[in-house]
Amino acid sequence: MPIDRLIAGFKSFRETYYEEQPDFYRSLVEKGQKPDVMVIACSDSRVNPSIIAKAEPGELFIVRNVANLVPPYEPDSHYHGTSAAIEFAVRDLNVEHIIVLGHSHCGGIRCLCEGHEDAKNREFIDGWMSIVEQARDDSLKGEAQLRNVEREAVKISLDNLLTFPWVKRRVENGRLKLHGWLFDLEAGELLAHEAGDSWKTMTG
Ligand SMILES: [Zn+2]
Repeated sequence: MPIDRLIAGFKSFRETYYEEQPDFYRSLVEKGQKPDVMVIACSDSRVNPSIIAKAEPGELFIVRNVANLVPPYEPDSHYHGTSAAIEFAVRDLNVEHIIVLGHSHCGGIRCLCEGHEDAKNREFIDGWMSIVEQARDDSLKGEAQLRNVEREAVKISLDNLLTFPWVKRRVENGRLKLHGWLFDLEAGELLAHEAGDSWKTMTG
């Protein structure tokens, strides 16, 4: 039973972080969270940043959405969940790094490239994915197109981060660094975007 599995998982978590290390959460509660890193990741069940980076509670401030997208800065009255998380991480928590964590085999990117198979019955995915519409290169086909668009979409999200004036200011004065990463599920590799179009393996 999936739910029983989770409850058993929580018991094991409680043993590790409450019984074996009684000060761990006490300190996180008393001193508050002070993560240095924000991660913007996909909702995909295979790309949980805390699991793949073996991060401890308190280390990562995470927002997850379909295809790990950053929308452009639009300070209006709409419901900007991702922008609210970025604002809190940057202006309140003063994180020093933001990682846009893309991944291969992303269902959101597949929808952007190939359309949803039941598109007329979907209400939100197309509109959301249009944030990275310009990442789509129709000169490529099939898996090659998907792998390319997954990378290009990370670059657009990094550009969109810089449309937030308080992000741009902090990047310019060196208080905040932006990173574009890509988790290749098939190869088990983590790649980092570098200037221009190159992606470097970080695991050696
Ligand atoms: Zn995804």
